[in-house]
Amino acid sequence: MTDATYVTVNGKVIPSAEAQINIASPAAKYGIGVFEGLRGYWNADDEQLYVFRLREHLARLKQSMKLLRLDDEYTIEQLEACVLDMIRANDFKTTIQMRITALLDDPDSSRTDNGPVGVYAEGSPCPPHPFMRSGLTAGTSSWARTADNALPVRIKCNANYVNARLAELEARAGGFDRAIFLNNRGKVSEGPGATLFLIRNGQPATPSPSNDLLESITRDTLMHLLRETQDMDTRERDVDRTEIYAADEAFLCGTLAEVTPIISLDGIPVGDGTVGPITRALQKSYLDTVTGASADHAEWRTPVYV
Ligand code: PMP
Repeated sequence: MTDATYVTVNGKVIPSAEAQINIASPAAKYGIGVFEGLRGYWNADDEQLYVFRLREHLARLKQSMKLLRLDDEYTIEQLEACVLDMIRANDFKTTIQMRITALLDDPDSSRTDNGPVGVYAEGSPCPPHPFMRSGLTAGTSSWARTADNALPVRIKCNANYVNARLAELEARAGGFDRAIFLNNRGKVSEGPGATLFLIRNGQPATPSPSNDLLESITRDTLMHLLRETQDMDTRERDVDRTEIYAADEAFLCGTLAEVTPIISLDGIPVGDGTVGPITRALQKSYLDTVTGASADHAEWRTPVYV
């Protein structure tokens, strides 16, 4: 991902060209590592870059490390410094995406070792995606979402994204913009890198966390915003594929996806096949929140430059 001139490696800022991975490391051989994708939003009025829900992302990184039994070598404060030092070293003054990764990068480690753990942070500018305005077409994947009792999606493990790749390539070959996974029970799970909401008869719903999905931070943010700005409570429950065909509106959400409308599934229009009013209003309240254009939820924004 990185366009960054500088990255942080194990707490030190170094030129990105010097950040290399050893081919014999368990990270390179087996994908043994976990990560978080984050965003920082530039607010020109405040002349400030705000990282959105940094603490929650780092808490989830630690959960992912715990599940893979990676040694807990870094405090939240040290992880936070990895991200913030990287941004400041690059002097980013635009909206950016970032990634922090914890992995087994020592060539002498085996697949079952717990450390040493390398921690890297990198970033790059990230303009708004055109799908935010136009919405996207989705296709139901024939690949099942990996199950919680096989390769749990509840953690952001690098190897999970092999399942994502299969679905993404299949969707592209079928002429769709994005894939939607069903799980082994045939219920809607999520997209390869984003969770899903639908709106039916004015009622938002999203697959419950027992549907083999990531407990998305954006999903949580949007449930707050739907309640606070549109007086709507979201039901977390099983969602059938056919409910998306029958829905008035549907969207994908995630740190990168933000609030991306789904205008059709499998060639069947969602609602009237255009972006619906609840989704549009939610996009606005989300962007106002992440950028700090709205003063609400200041606790979710970490200012980078002080
Ligand atoms: N599901 C998966 C599999 C993801 O990779 C992501 C992106 N992190 C999401 C959902 C959205 O999660 P979040 O809102 O925390 O970015």
